[in-house]
Amino acid sequence: MSEHSRAEKKAWVEFSKMIRARDNIGGNFRCPTCGRTLPIEEADAGHYITRARKSVMFDEMNVHAQCRHCNRFEEGNHFLYRRWLVDKYEEKKVEELERRAHISGGYTTVDLLLMAKDYRARTKAIIERKEKLQNLLEGFKK
Ligand SMILES: [Zn+2]
Repeated sequence: MSEHSRAEKKAWVEFSKMIRARDNIGGNFRCPTCGRTLPIEEADAGHYITRARKSVMFDEMNVHAQCRHCNRFEEGNHFLYRRWLVDKYEEKKVEELERRAHISGGYTTVDLLLMAKDYRARTKAIIERKEKLQNLLEGFKK
């Protein structure tokens, strides 16, 4: 594997952890395409537009916690995914995302390594913030 591919893989691993942390609701997530609520451990980080399109591979609007079945066996359930995105972000934003997918080019190896580092820090911050919120809520219930 080339140095660039290794860096891309590293960035992807960290990015997908961040997506799962973001979409974790009390240990579960809701699959955008089949609507099932499942344990977060069972989530893939599923793309709306294929990760083969490098310009949106790390686009936070393009990737959400998705169940393995929808992501791997239903080709991401593209039509339902789009409908869900429109509900969540509005049609205009989805069209902008679709335009971003046609921009060519990708990231340099250095970019990818820096991104991996940044995603790792953000994942940590998201987890800490959610824990704090959870503790606040529990204190409030007492
Ligand atoms: Zn699903």
